[in-house]
Amino acid sequence: MTVQPMIPPTAGEIVVIGLGRSGVAASSLLRAHGYDVYACDDATSPKLADIARELTTRGASVQTGGHDAARIARAALVVVSPGVPPDAPAVVAASNASRAVVSEIEIALRYMPNVRYIAVTGTNGKTTTTALIGALLRALGVTAPDAGNIGTPLSEVALAEPQPAWVSLELSSFQLHDTPSIAPDVGVLTNLSADHLDRYATVGDYFADKALLFRNATSRSRWVVNADDPVSLDMARGVAGDHFHFSVVKQSDAWYDRTTDSLVVFDTPLLSRGDVHLLGDHNVANVLAASLAVMAASSDFRTPAAREAIADALRSFRAMPNRLEVVGEWNGIEWINDSKATNVASTLVAVQGMTRPVVLLLGGRHKGEPYTALAQPIAEHVKHVIAFGEAAPIVQHDLANAVALTRVDGTFEEVIAAARGVAASGDAILLSPACSSYDMFNNYVERGQRFRELAAQGND
Ligand code: ADP
Repeated sequence: MTVQPMIPPTAGEIVVIGLGRSGVAASSLLRAHGYDVYACDDATSPKLADIARELTTRGASVQTGGHDAARIARAALVVVSPGVPPDAPAVVAASNASRAVVSEIEIALRYMPNVRYIAVTGTNGKTTTTALIGALLRALGVTAPDAGNIGTPLSEVALAEPQPAWVSLELSSFQLHDTPSIAPDVGVLTNLSADHLDRYATVGDYFADKALLFRNATSRSRWVVNADDPVSLDMARGVAGDHFHFSVVKQSDAWYDRTTDSLVVFDTPLLSRGDVHLLGDHNVANVLAASLAVMAASSDFRTPAAREAIADALRSFRAMPNRLEVVGEWNGIEWINDSKATNVASTLVAVQGMTRPVVLLLGGRHKGEPYTALAQPIAEHVKHVIAFGEAAPIVQHDLANAVALTRVDGTFEEVIAAARGVAASGDAILLSPACSSYDMFNNYVERGQRFRELAAQGND
């Protein structure tokens, strides 16, 4: 991997905006390499106060509850944490002063030149595919943490001693936007559809950030792309390097052979579908993408023994929390938590994967996409939609003609009560909201947790 030289520590102060886990890790990494760091966060909390104290002992200058726009305007470089939106005042101060802005991932990459990595992006399935890749690499006996958007900041990995041999790295479009050094050993594009229209002016702008995965492609690059998604194929077409494809419908480098019910990679069956304990064809796609990425990464990872280790790891992999997670069954009703489905495409695959009549909880904070694409699969699989949250009127407008629909303008507890009221034994209650959670919760994890609690309550 080629690493461009970081600016010299004498060039001036580096500003880190946002003191979440990524901002803290980036600040620590920069301090460890001798940079002057000014870290700020507009919020205040006891936890932030602890963080500020900790970073101050490492020699950083820290401000919480505000920021110094003039100081940001003089920065040699600005690092923006992934959770900080582009219209945050501190970020606006940086862009008004034309400061160079990079992601925390960019900082980390500069300090791990000998670590190999598989990078995963796409609209849906990133986290699941990243977790699968990490699990497969570790099953092959190499040190390989999961990092990036999945949870652990890459800068934390860069700070570890010794650094790992490999990293399975999840990248959001926002992270790709500000990571000019991205050059994975293998890059994976899971799929592309409209998302984040609350942050991007057009779908084209969103896709343009996704395409930055390929920005440093060379003839030695390797790419794993979804053969069932014409938009992904279009984006990868003509990019330098070796291209590998996966498909759940037709023969490919990795594919789902329905005649034998097996997952086939490089012309050899890997394991049978029934041995993968994940719901839905979309998860078969994720498994194929992950297996292909790992096998493409090194010839050591596609020997017969390696294939066996990979198959074993796939057999023991289970659904991740908040992603079509079966919470339990009470009074004959199955409760399924898909709180992470925060766009229309992910709710679409969830609904298509259902085998029982479904009561679907749809709503939250609207992100800009219409719900009309759900009308047909909903008519097939869903007996009742509960429309809730800020998006409820739009959901109602888009789907009321397609399915029985109840609009609940109240609390999440009332949403669950309404679902209970229409569900019968043999049904599933599915939270797959196609919206973000920010109108009612701090994040999708809290929404999923509340769903779990309420599902378990009121049942004997
Ligand atoms: P991401 O990290 O891209 O948001 P996750 O693996 O966390 O992806 O899954 C998010 C949501 O998308 C889940 O609700 C899941 O059911 C759905 N999903 C997962 N994989 C895919 C896929 N390959 N295609 C479409 N939807 C998917």
